[in-house]
Amino acid sequence: MKIKIDLALCQGHSVCLDEAPEVFDVIDQDDGYPQVRVLLDNPPQELREKVMKAAKYCPNNVITVLED
Ligand code: SF4
Repeated sequence: MKIKIDLALCQGHSVCLDEAPEVFDVIDQDDGYPQVRVLLDNPPQELREKVMKAAKYCPNNVITVLED
């Protein structure tokens, strides 16, 4: 699977980090909202459930999971 983020809409809620800390980090910005950083662009299958939860519960719906 591959992860795609629409950074323009990310507002740093950190739900992604809570759900899948192996895959997502949230970084403070000098101006504006904190933003997600994807640590693993192609996470292994064993993290699928966590990644799907992060995508589902992201309040801004900015995480897209693409299948390989
Ligand atoms: S939960 Fe969504 S909006 Fe919040 S930091 Fe993660 S990707 Fe960005």
